[in-house]
Amino acid sequence: MPSLLIATTNQNKLREYAAIFAGLPLELRTLRDLGITDDVDETGATFAENARLKAAFYAARSGLPALADDSGLEVHALGGEPGVRSARYAGPGASDADRNALLLQKLAHVPFHARLARFVCAIALGLPDGTLEDVEGSLPGVIDMAPRGTHGFGYDPLFYVLDENATLAELPPERKNAISHRAQAARAARVVLERWVAQGLL
Ligand code: IMP
Repeated sequence: MPSLLIATTNQNKLREYAAIFAGLPLELRTLRDLGITDDVDETGATFAENARLKAAFYAARSGLPALADDSGLEVHALGGEPGVRSARYAGPGASDADRNALLLQKLAHVPFHARLARFVCAIALGLPDGTLEDVEGSLPGVIDMAPRGTHGFGYDPLFYVLDENATLAELPPERKNAISHRAQAARAARVVLERWVAQGLL
């Protein structure tokens, strides 16, 4: 069976991808399986650019088809910030709580109805010959006035999903994983992988 390198070290993401790619004729490998420890500088201006940089690098490095992703939060009232800087928003060494506090501070004078935001996830699939495709998923929400909930990670406690009447951190993980930006992008990536299998590219 052909292999697909899932180029992440995040165990939660690995589990999510394994669930969504179940039944594909692909053996999922991880960076740890292959002993690859190289990091790629995320210098792209967009999520898709960063995902493509990483997928191309790891496909070339491993000689295997590779999947890489990049994700983050875009807040409309902040001109799309923190965007590709979501992980580094409050500077090096800052915690999720620090980043959430900074976001609340920046939105302190913005009323609830103007706090529209979205989570975005870009996934790129790369082949060792340089072939690259990317797909994207997004989830709309509102940045709440205070954090609520204990599940998830990152900005989840502040991300209120109207249809669920809850923040992402208040939802059971199975529910978040069914609706998330990452799940939507992964389902689109599955379609690309099915096509690549049918075309004999894998
Ligand atoms: P990365 O794609 O894992 O590098 O994620 C970048 C950053 O975006 C994370 O460190 C979080 O701050 C934020 N982020 C991405 N996805 C989520 C999510 O599902 N919930 C909360 N924060 C997220």
